[in-house]
Amino acid sequence: MTTTDDQAAVPTLDLDLTSPEPIPEAGIAKAVDLMRSGRLFRYGETAPGQLSPAADLEQKFATAIGRRYAIGVNSCGAALFLALRASGVAPGDRVLVNGFTLAPVPGAIAHAGGVPVIVEIDQRCMIDLDDLEQQAAETGAKTLLLSHMRGHISNLDEVMTIATRHGINVIEDCAHTLGANWVGRPTGSFGVAGCFSLQTFKHINAGEGGIIVTDDPDLAAQAIILSGSYMLYPQHAARPDEEAFEKWRAVTPNFSLRLSALAATVALPQLDELDERIRKMNHAYERLAAELSAIDGVEVIERDPREEFVGSSLQLRLPSLDAGQIGAIIDFCRSHKLDLKWFGQERMEGFTSRPAQWKYITPSGQAPRTEEILRSLCDMRIPPSMTADHCRQIATIVAAAVHNVTHQQ
Ligand SMILES: *Cc1c(COP(=O)(O)O)cnc(C)c1O
Repeated sequence: MTTTDDQAAVPTLDLDLTSPEPIPEAGIAKAVDLMRSGRLFRYGETAPGQLSPAADLEQKFATAIGRRYAIGVNSCGAALFLALRASGVAPGDRVLVNGFTLAPVPGAIAHAGGVPVIVEIDQRCMIDLDDLEQQAAETGAKTLLLSHMRGHISNLDEVMTIATRHGINVIEDCAHTLGANWVGRPTGSFGVAGCFSLQTFKHINAGEGGIIVTDDPDLAAQAIILSGSYMLYPQHAARPDEEAFEKWRAVTPNFSLRLSALAATVALPQLDELDERIRKMNHAYERLAAELSAIDGVEVIERDPREEFVGSSLQLRLPSLDAGQIGAIIDFCRSHKLDLKWFGQERMEGFTSRPAQWKYITPSGQAPRTEEILRSLCDMRIPPSMTADHCRQIATIVAAAVHNVTHQQ
């Protein structure tokens, strides 16, 4: 059989991995009502005893994660920036961050004027605990921005032990871990603050939006004022006492990073669907992981059984292949409608990036082990609509792609 015949037998994926989840009908109806009322600003007047959609969503997040306060903002990147700033990060302060993350994370550190210190990751895409300990001791950094990137949850017991030992505030980036736990406890409930995303390609699709959760009244009051509450903070439900606001109101600027009422309205009914979405994604994840890890040369990232993760994406490595071969695999997959992202790519593209590419902040060569892991790391999204047939198609396409590049002289 020639290569052409091989390719002809390879299916084209009949699922669009880039298509987002539709808004539930209940959300659409509520959004239409809201638009008719014109009350798109979150601080409109509400009837006595009634919560605005934004305050309602905040309250529900606080309850779901088990924290006292929640603050809605316009993105997770903004949430991370506000959490850094409101937890005391000042310009020039060093901020530890794991090297497997997304551009808005180093971006949030830059926004707060911080200086990122990249902490290495291990083969499982988790923060390297030895390197964390060493960098904490060497730099004296007092903040760790821990990104649960693509849903990979590091050993939070160990991370918190190290953080406590060094007097480090942990801020959790939970953009991919809404609905996920570490040993039964929700992510976002370990650090001083947890930040979630409502962006279209995360677990709840409001277009744009972010939520900060915390138990710290000073952090919460500052975040609310910083987010642009026009001193209308009594309209927040999951908020600290007046005392905290009195302390911060005169010395805290307004950055106008508010959550819109429309985003909150379309997000709310999706919370009710979340468990079902997660069940479907995790089902697809297990299938896909089993099929892909059976392919020679393909490694699916190993998971710790204590991670109760949400399988909204799957990461695989092609450690024995070079950049030219991986590039050819990406092209082959794309020609069969399978959209793989590749973190090792020279050019940042479509959600991929790695520390060496953040030229605005990172001295080059800071995380060589992370660079080596990301060099061959690929990534695909798992929408809830992925079926067993789709998983089989994907595995067939990837197997053919790998076969083609490894059987060329
Ligand atoms: C998407 C994402 C963010 C930022 O979320 P936005 O709401 O788009 O700002 C942060 N961290 C990770 C890991 C993400 O995937």
